[in-house]
Amino acid sequence: QAPTPYYFTQPKEARLLLHKRDRFSNKGTFGHALLLVGSYGKIGAAILAARACLRSGVGLLTVQVPQCGYVALQTMVPEAMCRPDRNQHVLSGSSQLDDVPDPTDYSTIGLGPGIGKAPETLAMLKELLPMLKKPIVVDADALNLLSENRELLKYLPKNSILTPHPKEFERLTKKWDNDYEKLDLLREFTRKYSVVVVLKGAYSAIATPEGDIHFNSTGNPGLSTGGTGDVLTGILTALLAQSYESVEAAVLGVFAHGLAGDAVARKRGPIGMIASDVIDALSWE
Ligand code: AMP
Ligand code: MG
Repeated sequence: QAPTPYYFTQPKEARLLLHKRDRFSNKGTFGHALLLVGSYGKIGAAILAARACLRSGVGLLTVQVPQCGYVALQTMVPEAMCRPDRNQHVLSGSSQLDDVPDPTDYSTIGLGPGIGKAPETLAMLKELLPMLKKPIVVDADALNLLSENRELLKYLPKNSILTPHPKEFERLTKKWDNDYEKLDLLREFTRKYSVVVVLKGAYSAIATPEGDIHFNSTGNPGLSTGGTGDVLTGILTALLAQSYESVEAAVLGVFAHGLAGDAVARKRGPIGMIASDVIDALSWE
């Protein structure tokens, strides 16, 4: 009889996944992450993802934002380097003009929070995706752009982590009638594209390319507020940069994100929770 493909991540499982910080380390030990995030009116998403990434142990972080986000990012996140895009308002693509980063300069890339769906940004995706050789994190409007340009899905590096909320996952697949169908769609999708999908919500479901599903035990309805997904993208990008395997990064990162949300809820209740609180409460003990 085949073992059940369902897992439930509790503190014991999460703790086993956590890497120790080597005493003889330097910042190079923990990877250099690149976040491609933000657009005019959504630079907050870039800042949240960047701060969460830094609070999750990354060695170095570069954030590429459109020029309108430059001052805010450098002011709010002095620990990060900034790579301003040529474009004022949206991330844009032209490898001739250096707007498209060289992926070999980075351990991994986190892509999507706040980017919008401008044609220039789609152009960047079209140039960038075929150049990638290592797993990345894909979220938010990057997922929506992939849904609308499905020929790009095949360029996702194997074991990349996609983090859709239910609506984004529906756009990537189709409407489901019940939870059984939803789990079937999850498995079908992760097998077809050899990626890890984090279907976000209460008890986020993490589906592996092999068809296993890990349900998360942490988190609460206080997390149902703008920006908490951007925080998760920053966390997962940091873990991939530190050489966690994709499934381990997803399981551990989602657990830590929910755990931080639970710590905030204990202190002030779920109602007043904002995404920045979740970053401040992150704990890797
Ligand atoms: P997004 O929809 O992209 O902003 O992401 C929302 C984040 O908050 C995801 O990580 C969800 O798993 C989490 N979240 C939202 N609502 C809940 C809930 N009711 N219980 C636990 N986690 C939640
Ligand atoms: Mg989101």
